[in-house]
Amino acid sequence: MNATDEAMSFADLALRPELLRALGDLGYEEPTPIQREAIPPLLEGRDLLGQAATGTGKTAAFALPVLQRLAEGEPESGPVALILVPTRELAVQVSEAMHRYGKDIGARVLPIYGGQPIGRQLRALERGVDVVVATPGRALDHIGRGTLALSGLRMVVLDEADEMLDMGFADDIETILQDTPEDRQTVLFSATMPPRIDGMARRHLSEPVRIKIEHERAATGESPRVRQSAYIVTRSHKPAALGRVLDVEAPTAAIVFCRTRDEVDSLTETLNGRGYRAEALHGGMGQEQRDRVMGRLRTGTADLLVATDVAARGLDIEQLTHVINYDVPSAPESYVHRIGRVGRAGREGVAITLAEPREHRMLKTIERVTRSRIEIEKVPTIADLRARRLELTRAALQESLLEDDDLDRFRVVVETLADEFDVMEVALAAVKLAHESTGAAADEEEIPEVALSPTRGRRDGAGRDAGPRERGRGPSRGGMARLFVGAGRSARIRPQDLVGAIAGETRVSGRDIGAIEIADRFSLVEIPESAVQEVIDALRRTTIKGRKVTIRRDRDAP
Ligand code: AMP
Repeated sequence: MNATDEAMSFADLALRPELLRALGDLGYEEPTPIQREAIPPLLEGRDLLGQAATGTGKTAAFALPVLQRLAEGEPESGPVALILVPTRELAVQVSEAMHRYGKDIGARVLPIYGGQPIGRQLRALERGVDVVVATPGRALDHIGRGTLALSGLRMVVLDEADEMLDMGFADDIETILQDTPEDRQTVLFSATMPPRIDGMARRHLSEPVRIKIEHERAATGESPRVRQSAYIVTRSHKPAALGRVLDVEAPTAAIVFCRTRDEVDSLTETLNGRGYRAEALHGGMGQEQRDRVMGRLRTGTADLLVATDVAARGLDIEQLTHVINYDVPSAPESYVHRIGRVGRAGREGVAITLAEPREHRMLKTIERVTRSRIEIEKVPTIADLRARRLELTRAALQESLLEDDDLDRFRVVVETLADEFDVMEVALAAVKLAHESTGAAADEEEIPEVALSPTRGRRDGAGRDAGPRERGRGPSRGGMARLFVGAGRSARIRPQDLVGAIAGETRVSGRDIGAIEIADRFSLVEIPESAVQEVIDALRRTTIKGRKVTIRRDRDAP
């Protein structure tokens, strides 16, 4: 394998063996750039201000040092680390990641968010926890009740700080931080660095190390002739979307990049199960095995290589036409590296990225850093796919008509059938058989189009009334309902307070919330119809700006 200068393993990062083992078991082969840069100073106890979006591996960048600190410290009765996140979804995700990384350390990690019965959280807190991952509102609630002790905290992490501010959690965060020990270690991650985040960092971080995961040096003006596009799909639709894209693109040879060994193995299996000829390549394989795989690709026995970055380093595959990123790469450099494998020697190459909605920002960063454009395309529909498959059959028949001088031996078949049927009908039946023999019959379920709201997370910061806004083309656009909230301008309610309360306490994310209107004594807020009961229940249990308020479905709604 041809390692680059930058190659560095997790073992070089001075992490404990229990953590290294967990990472190995998860199939992580090497640290991502943010992990390489953030983990060493965090292990030294420095504060850190990191600009990194979802998809960069930022969760492990702070989770591993938290776990290491936990393993090396004295046992404490209260939590040692508090991680504040903007949404319930992220609280669960971060806790799950910590469980996975910390399984051999025995870390007790508890997510705390609104919408979950408080009793269960109280019991778990009473039993003792090491790490609390919480949305600010619910954390404050527990602090107020005296059920979440902050005095033993050694680390505080603010994850997706810009999102938390956008959701109106600024005051809550300030209140929480004031009650934490002075000598705690503080980490702040944010995808963007507006002045408000800078201010927060100045107030609460002490001589932080600053990390930005956007290295301008990755800019490659000489990007080869590569057509770059991306499809936005949810995780569960990725295998189907990949199949669809492969069918439409029909690559001669393609490399599909995954993040981990496990992903490589399972995707290879899925693809082979769907009738593609895929081979896995990852760092866990011996040289002989690797050579065999490469041989199959060169001779055309296989046409898809599913690989991790580490395994693919230094590979030069001449017939490669497509590079497919099954996930958005963790850094722009990695993207540049990957797509550099096609479009060589004057041929046009194709680079395709499958991105989850939450990774959209990372795509933008890559575009900016590489100074190239990545077209967001619609996942081909079943109709597109059928049309494309028919086109392939037509092209194959045309080729046969033009080049095959051996067609005459089938003449007798056509002639005998022509006695009984119209020649056109005979041709139609023959095309049908030829078409079906390509395995083109299986139709799949439609893959839903995912909405991306350009106004995601951006609220009316000045607290003015926000009128109806144009939102994404999402599936939720149709079924919206309007809620009446019995507090308005005279109670100093701002749009972000409502968004914060809803997104913090329920599964509804900020982007699913529609128009918000604030009147003097009440407010109206649009949410997806499917979430009405959940939002009403959650908001009745909680407070907005410290007050209990009336919540009900707005009767005047159309
Ligand atoms: P995050 O940016 O923290 O949301 O992480 C994005 C994804 O990358 C998650 O699915 C992680 O499990 C995965 N991941 C994080 N670090 C690594 C790594 N070093 N190697 C492979 N996958 C990783």
